Amino acid sequence: MNEPLSYVQPTPESPWGTYLGQIDRVLPYLGPLARWAETLRRPKRSLIVDVPIELDDGRIAHFEGYRVQHSLTRGPGKGGVRYHPDVTLEEVMALSAWMSIKNAAVNLPYGGAKGGIRVDPKKLSIKELERLTRRYTSEIGIIIGPNQDIPAPDVNTNAQVMAWMMDTYSMNVGATATGVVTGKPIHLGGSLGRVKATGRGVFVTGREAARRLGLSLEGARVAVQGFGNVGSAAAELFHQAGAKIVAAQDHTGSVVNARGLDLADLIPHVRRTGGVAGFAGGEAIADEDFWGVDCDILIPAALEGQLRPERAGRVRARLILEGANGPTTPSADDILNDRGILVVPDVICNAGGVTVSYFEWVQDFSSFFWTEDEINLRLDKIVVNALKHIWDTADRHKIPLRTATFAVACERILLAREERGLYP
Ligand code: NAD
Repeated sequence: MNEPLSYVQPTPESPWGTYLGQIDRVLPYLGPLARWAETLRRPKRSLIVDVPIELDDGRIAHFEGYRVQHSLTRGPGKGGVRYHPDVTLEEVMALSAWMSIKNAAVNLPYGGAKGGIRVDPKKLSIKELERLTRRYTSEIGIIIGPNQDIPAPDVNTNAQVMAWMMDTYSMNVGATATGVVTGKPIHLGGSLGRVKATGRGVFVTGREAARRLGLSLEGARVAVQGFGNVGSAAAELFHQAGAKIVAAQDHTGSVVNARGLDLADLIPHVRRTGGVAGFAGGEAIADEDFWGVDCDILIPAALEGQLRPERAGRVRARLILEGANGPTTPSADDILNDRGILVVPDVICNAGGVTVSYFEWVQDFSSFFWTEDEINLRLDKIVVNALKHIWDTADRHKIPLRTATFAVACERILLAREERGLYP
């Protein structure tokens, strides 16, 4: 009865195909709610927009932009905006669906959404980037809003991009609407603690998982792929807890140091040069060798599809913390499970970011702002409670944490679906 979507051709290992496989695995744990499961396989709304801008030299360039609202059943859409040359509709669909799962897994009153532009932002000047952001915001303005869908930063977008989005939306509606995006600069209604919130969530879930494994963070060896917002913040927190960052990889290269990379030098080096390559405090290794580095905890915090079967076979860590969205392919996931390596899945591991985005949104509505300590404490509590509930579910059904997270989240989404009923 239900034909597959005609507008994407997923494969079992592509982002949307990976997500569909995850939904298939969770069906046996949904009981009678499974009759609503098809709603999870169909994004509610997918918008593709043309984003034309005038370049600094007078030429006109066109870019393809997207905003997908996978689910609005539990509340407004919520999810980041990505600028990357490999962005596709299929990728944005999968990322928006994972946002639905993540928001439900931590019980935030949101659906799931995601956006992106197929662009290499490193090739644009700052003024071109601003024009791109403003035009994109106007184009998707028909479906976003503080009560409809609230974008946030993702790969290659930051607080400045959010400020431009907020300003453009506000100009179009004729009133300052701080709650239309999260991840804004602090003095524009941003929240303390937001910049490092995703990395903090990775740390908190890692701390809890390590405790269950009997792995002490004092002296634990950590390898991090992706040294951007998420990876570097997580690395700093693990370092503060006594762990050693023994390897770091980003799009420029890979560096290792068995005694621990000195973050006080590495972070400024990355800021100055744009990547970890050339860092004098470590030894350069081939990118493929990063996956076989001797470590206790591995944090993929770059892009999806990075942990593939051949790499999963080389991993020496006991614990994998998925800072990135969708970093592990389904077949690699099976290998890691077979090898007894514990994976804390993206949909709970990196949920700290959207949790503090939720705090930001709440603060914007009430125009009353919390201290950083309050934010970090509330983040810790929400993530720990959510993870405990997921772990209990995993133990009860004897299933991996990923399937358990999907079970908890899908049950919440489909229960809301059933209670709301079908319109009209
Ligand atoms: P970022 O742009 O700040 O950093 C991305 C990092 O990945 C950079 O260090 C980059 O060099 C590296 N990278 C890119 N391509 C790579 C490659 N081929 N090999 C190795 N490294 C590569 O982005 P971010 O905000 O840190 O996001 C990273 C991941 O975390 C993404 O999957 C994103 O969806 C996810 N995430 C981000 C947030 C957030 O709040 N920023 C929240 C949840 C999930």
